[in-house]
Amino acid sequence: MTQTSTQSQHTHRIRLAEEWLHSCAGCEMAFLNIGEHLLDLLQDIDIVHMPVLMDHKYYGQKGEYGQRRLPKADIGLVSGGCANEEHKEILTHMRAQCDVLVALGTCATHGGIPAMANNWGMQETYEQVFQTSTCETTSVPADHLPRPLDRVYALDELVSIDLLLPGCPPNPTHIAEIIGSLVAGRQPQLPSKSVCDTCPAIRTGKMVSKEVKRFTCNCVFDHEQPIDTMRCLLEQGFLCMGPVTMAGCARDGAPCCIRARVPCRGCYGPARQGGHQMMDMLNAVSGSGVDVKSIVDRKNMLRFSGAHNRLRVRRKRK
Ligand code: SF4
Ligand code: SF4
Ligand code: SF4
Repeated sequence: MTQTSTQSQHTHRIRLAEEWLHSCAGCEMAFLNIGEHLLDLLQDIDIVHMPVLMDHKYYGQKGEYGQRRLPKADIGLVSGGCANEEHKEILTHMRAQCDVLVALGTCATHGGIPAMANNWGMQETYEQVFQTSTCETTSVPADHLPRPLDRVYALDELVSIDLLLPGCPPNPTHIAEIIGSLVAGRQPQLPSKSVCDTCPAIRTGKMVSKEVKRFTCNCVFDHEQPIDTMRCLLEQGFLCMGPVTMAGCARDGAPCCIRARVPCRGCYGPARQGGHQMMDMLNAVSGSGVDVKSIVDRKNMLRFSGAHNRLRVRRKRK
């Protein structure tokens, strides 16, 4: 963590740049959802580059630069996975221009939704997008598109990253904490436990079923009673990814999905550094005596963390 680089810059306003790669803009919405506190932060920071908010052209207003220019910044936030040569170039450029680089959101930290393409590979994914009945185009466009990489990468697979802030989208409070802590020259206070550690559901240590239920069944709860009267959804037989997923989404005393009485899908990525959400979850489930064969699509457990070679194209047997 390059804390010293920000500590030495207290004498000037902090310059913040933000970029989005293979992103849905949800992370940028989360940045805006910092809300009124953003006005406080703007007392200390200048946003020098943020395509989603600012008309800041890479090549100059009329293309006069001739090559892409990104401004120097103390803090850089980058959202989205890295799927093509253009993403890779922008990411490398941001790394060169920013003292502290933050991977913003689960796509950036673990591949997220874009890395689901790693299940099939880029070629087949493109063919699915451009050559199915939902699209009039009959061939994959070859011109004017950046060349795809061999797979979708998380940012730390391609450049060094100083801070990881997962979440799909990340919690706005934690985005503000990262910016505020870097402005103040201190370490950010971020969650380090699992979703289960922030969940008030009742755990008895006993599973009600030896088989995992499909999400098409409803869980059992009394909607007139508070959330801490509900039995743990995993114990009820649902594949709740809370045990293996990083905390961060809890508000009003419970993780977001659990508060809505639905199982955690794992959107904050693995709870432990280098964790494997599918293997860790299979271990947790089988350790409770549940038949792991009853899990219909195991790879789905990597739906948010398919980078780092977790999801790979399965070679077809000859
Ligand atoms: S992490 Fe989620 S919200 Fe952020 S860019 Fe990816 S899909 Fe969108
Ligand atoms: S498994 Fe799900 S419902 Fe159970 S404690 Fe963990 S997060 Fe809560
Ligand atoms: S409960 Fe799980 S899936 Fe839902 S927001 Fe939290 S981490 Fe994401």
